[in-house]
Amino acid sequence: MTTNTYDVITLGSGNAALSAALSARENGASVLVLERAPEAKRGGNSAFTGGGMRMVYNGLEDIRKIVPDLSDDEIARTDFGSYTREQYLDDLGNLTQYYIDPDLAETIVDNSTDTVHWLRQRGIRFVPNYGRQAYNVNGRFKFWGGLVIFANGGGKGLMDSHFKVAEKEGIPIRYNTRAVSLIRSRTGVGGVRAIVDGTEVEFHSRAVVLACGGFEANREMRTRYLGPGWEIAKVRGTRYNTGDGIQMALDHGAQSYGQWSGCHSVAWERYATDFGEVETPHAGYRHSYPFSIMVNSEGKRFLDEGADFRNYTYAKYGRVVLQQPGSFAWQIFDAQVKPLLRDEYKARGAAKVQADTLEELVERMQDVNPANFLATVREYNAAVQSDAPFDPNSKDGRATTGLAINKTNWANTISVPPYEAYSVGCGITFTFGGLKIDTNAQVLDIEDKPLPGLYAAGELVGGLYYFNYPGSTGLMAGAVFGRIAGREAAAFVAERKAA
Ligand SMILES: Cc1cc2nc3c(=O)[nH]c(=O)nc-3n(C[C@H](O)[C@H](O)[C@H](O)COP(=O)(O)OP(=O)(O)OC[C@H]3O[C@@H](n4cnc5c(N)ncnc54)[C@H](O)[C@@H]3O)c2cc1C
Repeated sequence: MTTNTYDVITLGSGNAALSAALSARENGASVLVLERAPEAKRGGNSAFTGGGMRMVYNGLEDIRKIVPDLSDDEIARTDFGSYTREQYLDDLGNLTQYYIDPDLAETIVDNSTDTVHWLRQRGIRFVPNYGRQAYNVNGRFKFWGGLVIFANGGGKGLMDSHFKVAEKEGIPIRYNTRAVSLIRSRTGVGGVRAIVDGTEVEFHSRAVVLACGGFEANREMRTRYLGPGWEIAKVRGTRYNTGDGIQMALDHGAQSYGQWSGCHSVAWERYATDFGEVETPHAGYRHSYPFSIMVNSEGKRFLDEGADFRNYTYAKYGRVVLQQPGSFAWQIFDAQVKPLLRDEYKARGAAKVQADTLEELVERMQDVNPANFLATVREYNAAVQSDAPFDPNSKDGRATTGLAINKTNWANTISVPPYEAYSVGCGITFTFGGLKIDTNAQVLDIEDKPLPGLYAAGELVGGLYYFNYPGSTGLMAGAVFGRIAGREAAAFVAERKAA
């Protein structure tokens, strides 16, 4: 079966795809969105997010332009700091061990603030992320980690707004429509073949924007590319990102790019469901580990919990947990830091044990060597240098010394009962390997030549992240390249029509 011809088809209905669809529409193209999920599960991983967007800002005035209704009281008790172009580029470079494609990095950074304004003008609201990115210390908040704003209502709020905008712009969305291959035309891409109700349907267009996610929800591809053991990781987000867009572009002659053995993965509720549930997207978060010590089944610490702010370490620590014997670990907190634990620790289903002594605690911590655990805590407590005051809003330098693995910041003794321990496994967020694009979001072939009419944005773009990732860059990169892809696809179609 064949349907009408559109100028541009975007695959997926996440943040990258809907940014591309809107941008193509604004630039005069007729647009169709194809989404594999049913309507109730739309929005992809983007709907699971906290909605954080990492952008350049130079102090309060820049935040005020995005959040004009900040109250005088909020302003008086908040230090927003700043996050310059250089800091953003440094973070992308440092965390990816300078493997990140520099052209793509500069494109994200240089378009970040303007793209947030663009989204805002289209009806997406942003607010400062108090509580998650700034702690209340003596009545004052100080933002840390280069990140202030998130979409009002988190990922769900972001995507609800995106869908409202798409509706207002008259952009049709076909759900339950799984794209499986690209159609070739005389001039490049002529649309896509998709499966609808078990039947193949052809959707014709003059350009296609691939924005249908990575391969994190595909156990076979995870094990093939990330390595043995990855089949048991839990998927934090949508079950629908199984690498289809990457595969159909490779079949069309696209170049593979980026770190195919790398991914974003975190310490996640050990007994979480296999895939995320969009109704409770944050239930599995165990992100307060900088205030904990983490031990494996041998009762030993295996990473520096306080190496940096959470959003500079969390994305690489899932892999480290997966590599522990049995692929799990425990996070241990005492009463001193309990008020700092994120809400998810109180959520239903958290694998938690509590006790008034460490001996009782470890008895309740399934599969952990008790003698080693008690020795670990004893050595750790003795190594804490308490001369630097504890401050969750800054890298306080309160460290341990002399341990095989020191804790660099926020090192409190584990000494005030009651004690709590939470069991974590590995939760995969998204994969790093994908397609090579240029700064116009055109998909490139093996000779770095654009494949005419084919564009990509979002998770399936390779070359951005290696080894690690600065939190809240994913939505930003998706919006930046989605917007560019839509604009460039519309221009490509206009040129072809004129010719
Ligand atoms: C729990 C969680 C929290 C996160 N928090 C943040 C955060 O606060 N800030 C941040 O920047 N990033 C965050 N991320 C990462 C972020 O989700 C991704 O970087 C970003 O959402 C990717 O957007 P996307 O549009 O590329 O993909 P998605 O939003 O996943 O959209 C892809 C869409 O394509 C559809 N699809 C798949 N295959 C097909 C096919 N064959 N045909 C048609 N459609 C198809 C899927 O159903 C899906 O709707 C988080 C991720 C998770 C899981």
